[in-house]
Amino acid sequence: MKKQIVLATGNKGKLNEFRAILKDYEILTPRELNVDFDVEETGETFYDNALIKARALYEICKLPTLADDSGLCVDALGGAPGVFSARYSGGNDKDNIDKLLNELSTAKGRKAHFSCCIVYYDGASVVSATGETHGIITREVIGNGGFGYDPVFLSDDLGKTFGEASEDEKNKISHRARALAQLADILHGKA
Ligand code: IMP
Repeated sequence: MKKQIVLATGNKGKLNEFRAILKDYEILTPRELNVDFDVEETGETFYDNALIKARALYEICKLPTLADDSGLCVDALGGAPGVFSARYSGGNDKDNIDKLLNELSTAKGRKAHFSCCIVYYDGASVVSATGETHGIITREVIGNGGFGYDPVFLSDDLGKTFGEASEDEKNKISHRARALAQLADILHGKA
């Protein structure tokens, strides 16, 4: 029988990505265990928030857990919006993008990266992995795919915005894919 891990998400896309890469494990969701899971992300770093979520879920399920936290970090804004990426403007994705473009209108340089931290917790040990993907913030929305800041993130790897990229293209070079690959190597004993 495969070892079970509960993933702190309700997002189907994330779940599929984790299941595809962590093949040696049975990845379960809180929902499949009939657990209502919602925890406040009060940390100052992606690692803090991922650990808060992984620990809280472990306390409920008493099974090994995985949690991730990610966001956009813009050099000219001192790393903002960072852990506040989802709630940057207090509104929706479009409001967040509007605020970002506005903040950058007079800034010098538009370099940015997405960062993702994934934490595994089994009640005793913590294992973590981080992934980044780099690019620049465009001056306007380009492309209508993806979510969050995707249409204003011009990827260095892809030469187009994440809003123009297919899911497959993005999943090969995304911050989450890179963190997940690193974590899989550690959990599978290859790193
Ligand atoms: P989460 O930790 O994956 O829930 O992401 C937090 C927030 O960071 C999201 O609500 C987005 O605003 C932003 N974000 C994280 N990853 C991405 C991405 O791949 N594309 C666009 N926005 C992202």
